[in-house]
Amino acid sequence: MTDLATHQARLEPHLARFRSGGILNLIAGQDVAGDEWFETRSPVDESLIAKVALGDAATIDQAARAAKAAFPAWAALGGEARKAILHRIADLIEARAEEIALCECWDTGQAWRFMSKAALRGAENFRFFADLAPQARDGQSLPTPTHMNITTRKPIGPVGVITPWNTPFMLSTWKIAPALAAGCTVVHKPAEFSPLTARLLAEICHEAGLPAGVLNLVNGMGEDAGRALTMHPDIKAIAFVGETRTGSMIMKQGADTLKRVHFELGGKNPVVVFADADLERALDAVIFMIYSLNGERCTSSSRLLVQDSIADRFNAMLAARVKAIRVGHPLDPATEVGPLIHKTHFDKVTGYVEIGRKDGATLAAGGTRVGQAGWYVAPTLFTGAQSHMRIAQEEVFGPFLTSIPFATEAEALKIANDVAYGLTGYVWTNDLTRALRFSDGLEAGMIWVNSESVRHLPTPFGGVKASGIGRDGGDWSFEFYMETKNTAFALGDHKIQRLGA
Ligand code: NAD
Repeated sequence: MTDLATHQARLEPHLARFRSGGILNLIAGQDVAGDEWFETRSPVDESLIAKVALGDAATIDQAARAAKAAFPAWAALGGEARKAILHRIADLIEARAEEIALCECWDTGQAWRFMSKAALRGAENFRFFADLAPQARDGQSLPTPTHMNITTRKPIGPVGVITPWNTPFMLSTWKIAPALAAGCTVVHKPAEFSPLTARLLAEICHEAGLPAGVLNLVNGMGEDAGRALTMHPDIKAIAFVGETRTGSMIMKQGADTLKRVHFELGGKNPVVVFADADLERALDAVIFMIYSLNGERCTSSSRLLVQDSIADRFNAMLAARVKAIRVGHPLDPATEVGPLIHKTHFDKVTGYVEIGRKDGATLAAGGTRVGQAGWYVAPTLFTGAQSHMRIAQEEVFGPFLTSIPFATEAEALKIANDVAYGLTGYVWTNDLTRALRFSDGLEAGMIWVNSESVRHLPTPFGGVKASGIGRDGGDWSFEFYMETKNTAFALGDHKIQRLGA
């Protein structure tokens, strides 16, 4: 049984090498430092973890050229060979899962109980897309009486992957694995708040035999390195996970070079609890989906819509449980909620407490800082909110739940859809017809009925409205990372018009 002290002792040697050498970029298989650095600090106590090589537009150019040079050979390698390398990457992720999880906890403040699984999920992402690699090019035959049409898919070229700081390792694998399986080469720009595990992933990929230049890592600021990546003429597509307003900027930045974009953006997801639901299970799911991963989760159910006949009882049960959630050090296996990623994010999340109060909602739990050091926030619950309030409309992205009562199914649907976002929705009812009708009316890319978010990798992942463009998962990912080509072969002497004859 591991405890906090054991985890701290095990983390130390992994940090020591970053402390002495810094976190370097990796371009064309080579470590690249540069003249300038930035710092990554732990949200636990703001201590310096390491200096990080600060990439800029010139670094991105170098990486994009490396990705371009590596593309023809990687694309031509064939699905079976790519499959073997991707499985080796998964093997090495599994072998280093503890190191990845420890570094992720320390860099992001995410609790160990979730990060140990997230590291393994990264390996699963690679295995899943490894097995699909041999069929990535498959197309259709579409015959007519005169022609045989054959479609094939080809990798689109070098792509840019831009990732956020929440569960960065898992999310990076989710974007990078399908790109590599499809035959694309990649320039990865991770979030500046969480560079550690992106470096581990790049190292692992090369150790597993990924040829130089196939995956390039450039750390840097979004508005500099990130921006340059989205504007680079050799980069054919951008897979982006992050905030909605950043997605909008990326779309503008990529316009001149006609970038194909795939966006996984923000959410303000509803969980709707009808009076006839299994309330004990609904309660567990409601709590899990907003307070796990510090609420820094795009699929979190940050709006609870609860039927008025049970609202008082349900909110009371909820408040009691929320107050009992264990806030603590992310490396302590008992911890359920760790510190938020950074002071700026802490200020944003706690700022919404004042906003909720002013709007007239009731603060039923939390709302305060926990401890003197680190960016810890007590799990927060507002009840009696209304849909027009800012705490019911805007993505807080923390352990912060807004509870809104409703009277009828029609009202619940109206409130559920009354936001700019549409990533996920969760419905709790034992009325089958209502579940079907309600989920059909919900404006969301992914819906779970009588369940928390449980991922099945072949299913489509993505959002509607301001929550995203495109889907990931299985063949949907290949549709993004590949171009479809149709070739028509004449079957005989079909009539050709004879102009000027
Ligand atoms: P962010 O948009 O601030 O940053 C994400 C990445 O974009 C970072 O690497 C950043 O450096 C880069 N970036 C910033 N400005 C850029 C620019 N002008 N051009 C190019 N790149 C730029 O997001 P964040 O705060 O790191 O992450 C949290 C957000 O991510 C939340 O809104 C959350 O909902 C969203 N998210 C969505 C999903 C999903 O699947 N829908 C998953 C995880 C997170």
